[in-house]
Amino acid sequence: MQDRTIALHSGYEKDSNKSMAVPIYQTTAYDFESAQTAADRFALKELGMIYTRLNNPTTAVLENRIAALEDGEAAIATASGQSAIFFAIANLAQAGENIIIAKKIYGGATTLLTHTIKRFGIEARVFDSDSADNLEELIDDKSRAIFFESLSNPQICVADVDKIVKIAKKYNIITICDNTVATPAIFKPLERGVDVVVHSSSKYISGQGSALGGLIVEAKGLNSKLIGNARYPHFNEPDESYHGLVYADLPLPMFTLRVRLSLIRDIGATPSPYNSWLHIQGLETLLLRVKAHSENALKIAQWLLHHPRVKSVNYPALQSDPNHNRAIEYFKDGLCSGLVSFEVGDFEYAKSILDKTELFAVVVNIGDSKSIITHSASTTHQQLSKEELQSSGVTDGLVRLSVGLEDVDDLIRDLEQAMS
Ligand SMILES: *Cc1c(COP(=O)(O)O)cnc(C)c1O
Repeated sequence: MQDRTIALHSGYEKDSNKSMAVPIYQTTAYDFESAQTAADRFALKELGMIYTRLNNPTTAVLENRIAALEDGEAAIATASGQSAIFFAIANLAQAGENIIIAKKIYGGATTLLTHTIKRFGIEARVFDSDSADNLEELIDDKSRAIFFESLSNPQICVADVDKIVKIAKKYNIITICDNTVATPAIFKPLERGVDVVVHSSSKYISGQGSALGGLIVEAKGLNSKLIGNARYPHFNEPDESYHGLVYADLPLPMFTLRVRLSLIRDIGATPSPYNSWLHIQGLETLLLRVKAHSENALKIAQWLLHHPRVKSVNYPALQSDPNHNRAIEYFKDGLCSGLVSFEVGDFEYAKSILDKTELFAVVVNIGDSKSIITHSASTTHQQLSKEELQSSGVTDGLVRLSVGLEDVDDLIRDLEQAMS
């Protein structure tokens, strides 16, 4: 099946009511009908619904559909993008070990991975995902994951995915790519050898800015990289919390299975069935929307390039952008999402633009159908130190746009009056 068909049909089999829309199973639990069935479900002798913290039929459609769209083996949905990132990392690393994370990532991911996770004894080492030049020297025998964004928020840089994957393979380390901004409409990390994809489905996948959500997708054949891998003994030795279960002995995709049976079982952060349903609605039109977002964004980026007060524009579809060649090589039809950022070199002027826009709303979100303007340094990246801000490329005068689906001429008129 092609992507546009997958987005509408994959993962859903109609029951006897033949409902065209995926039904919302707004339930906490399921009737096992017999004690034996209950026991078999818990023992994984029979796969089926157990309790909504672990699984749910509506959420399962979302999981199967994103797995198909990302060309992965299996997926698990979580309550938010942040919890998806946390689970993906916690599934690989424990106290005394380290993870290697890209410099240019979402501000919330930076605080989670460098500060909160540090208190769990996991050290984050920072590499430059644009060049991956310093990646190899950071790896040692305690390294458990390499984490980066395919298209980074808010700097809009394209990671050198091929080089990162090559180095990770050499050292048998699992790579995790946050594909929130690019989405599978533009880029499929698993097809280029990445092991695990995470999403904040709160953004383009939802598309309407109506629900938080996260997704973790594992690559086809990931089991073979985990089985017998000395970096990941917990997949190969009995799990005492699950009466001695050995993940490596099961014929199931074990990365997401372990997130489900161990992490989400114990920690929660499960999506509500209703939010899963909203994300399914979003997936149905994702490919069409991302194309339209990207077309609007390119026109705005070109307009900004010629504005007298603009010092530089970050948008990889522009020929002048340092990431242009990689974007053309990696991204479907050269589409680059709705994210555009530009430098005006002045904190006060940057803030005044936000105060004057009428269509662009001052919101800390991306991927909504409605256009958004953000000043990262004073909001999403406020909790970062001066050094962290500088190394992540978020300057005082950087303005970020999440270009929506409005008529692009109206959007340009709005920016024109706000920047005059
Ligand atoms: C928003 C975002 C997140 C966090 O997701 P939430 O759903 O808000 O928890 C993670 N990564 C990226 C790239 C994001 O844009």
